[in-house]
Amino acid sequence: MQGLMMHCPLTVTSIIDHGNRVFPKKEIISIFPDKTRHVYTYADLYKRSKKIADALLGKFQVKPGDMIGTYAWNHHQHLELYFGIPGAGAVCHTINIRLSSSQTEFIVNNAEDRIIFIDAILTPAFENIAALLPTVEAYIIMNAPKGFKTSLPNAIDYEDFIADAADNIDWVTVDENDACAMCYTSGTTGLPKGVLYSHRSTWLHAVIMSLPNYGNTSTEDRILVGVPQFHVMAWGIPYGAVLCGTVLIFPSCHLHPEPFIDIIINEKANKANGVPTIWQGIYTVLKKNGVSDSFPLKEFLVGGASMPPTLIGNFQKDFGIKAIHAWGMTETSPVGTLSRLQPQHASLSDSEKIKIRALQGQEVPCVEIRIVTENGIIAPRDGKTVGEIQVKGVWVISSYFKTISHENFSEDGWFKTGDVGTINEEGYLKITDRTKDLIKSGGEWISSVALEVAIMAYPKVKEASVIAIPDELWTERPLAVIVLRDENDSLSMDELHSFLLPSFAKYQLPEKISFIKEIPKTSVGKFDKKEMRRLYAEGKLGV
Ligand code: ADP
Repeated sequence: MQGLMMHCPLTVTSIIDHGNRVFPKKEIISIFPDKTRHVYTYADLYKRSKKIADALLGKFQVKPGDMIGTYAWNHHQHLELYFGIPGAGAVCHTINIRLSSSQTEFIVNNAEDRIIFIDAILTPAFENIAALLPTVEAYIIMNAPKGFKTSLPNAIDYEDFIADAADNIDWVTVDENDACAMCYTSGTTGLPKGVLYSHRSTWLHAVIMSLPNYGNTSTEDRILVGVPQFHVMAWGIPYGAVLCGTVLIFPSCHLHPEPFIDIIINEKANKANGVPTIWQGIYTVLKKNGVSDSFPLKEFLVGGASMPPTLIGNFQKDFGIKAIHAWGMTETSPVGTLSRLQPQHASLSDSEKIKIRALQGQEVPCVEIRIVTENGIIAPRDGKTVGEIQVKGVWVISSYFKTISHENFSEDGWFKTGDVGTINEEGYLKITDRTKDLIKSGGEWISSVALEVAIMAYPKVKEASVIAIPDELWTERPLAVIVLRDENDSLSMDELHSFLLPSFAKYQLPEKISFIKEIPKTSVGKFDKKEMRRLYAEGKLGV
């Protein structure tokens, strides 16, 4: 027997409808690259999102499921696109601005983006590749200074685009399972893959992440969004914030410690999110300059890479700031687990508490995790048995966009994360390793396989392998292990870098090389990266 409740689809537009009805005066603040401060309200956001939807429908006859790209920093216009694009029935495809031009070209063509909303300061990246993007009909330029010029074809100013659009249209009716947004994630082969979020998955992630045990968002809060909006929809934080009536603060490109701290202070941000690299930098500056009693930040969400226990402990001890460690992936919307203490931990010592908080944490509702050992056995939750982390749930990917990849799913339909770890008796996940051949630097991916293939194409190189090495600031950096064809030859870093650009973004280039006689191999002849990591740790790679 079915329940007798109304069927109201869980759509992202219902989030802004609610925000506008209940919290119309709540503020959204953007700090632009030149430090200009822009403030408006949820009611303004609502109207301008409607205008986006109307302009897309009226000027481009956007159809359900059309892909509309964004290439922008964190600001209120980007948020308008989070709501306005799905409000027109289309998909908001946020493009990572840190990728190389060839990766961006691949992604836009793979997505078949019809329109790109782009920050004026970021247009040079697209001017180089626009001729290679046949599906893109127009570029809508955001935040253009007076006299701005671009060679992009069909460039329209954002404000002109929405100037005469209606701010009271009905959102296009969609099914809650329709797609509302898309982000690409790095593949180990170097080809990124699209992850398509549904209205329903986004809505449920936003609600659950707002609960006190998890993201802990309320109408009392002022959240500084330090995760780029092109990274898994800024971890879904803006959606949850609008549901809860939270003041949202967008720092545009100001993600470096000093300006970020200035924004925390000036805008009285009591919460924030960001990758460990950001928090490492912030800690160093706060420690040097000291923190006043009125410093507003009380708690932040950190993930995307492992947050070191000492850093979690130092934030707590030195400044009384709670770092909430979470684990997730683009494929999991992103939050899968999150680490908070439970009442039974109250009597533990401070260092025991930090140890727990530095774990990747417990499953959030709607997500299940399990550990599967090398023998295919589901591991007991004993905190010891190591295996691959598999995950299933309401906001976990069921398939990549346009890509069939059975290898990413178990026979019974769980998503294989490529992360390795344990789960303890209390259900806390601990990540210990990674099977996927990727390096995570400052929250951004580097494909070691793509680098290896490229380096091996250099005539002087006989063999090359790339491994992740630990780095205090960036968490990991790539190390190129190279065997030269001629032992007496030499290869400089500059020479290697100029060969690798422009196939790679600058941050993806290794700044350390180890020259060795032979690359260690496994019994089946594969590069033995475990062995190379061991040699590096023991200082035997000559770096
Ligand atoms: P995001 O960086 O937004 O979380 P990605 O899809 O780019 O999403 O990266 C996901 C991967 O990042 C995970 O599979 C894992 O390898 C790593 N990762 C994410 N969070 C953590 C964490 N808290 N600790 C260790 N590794 C993490």
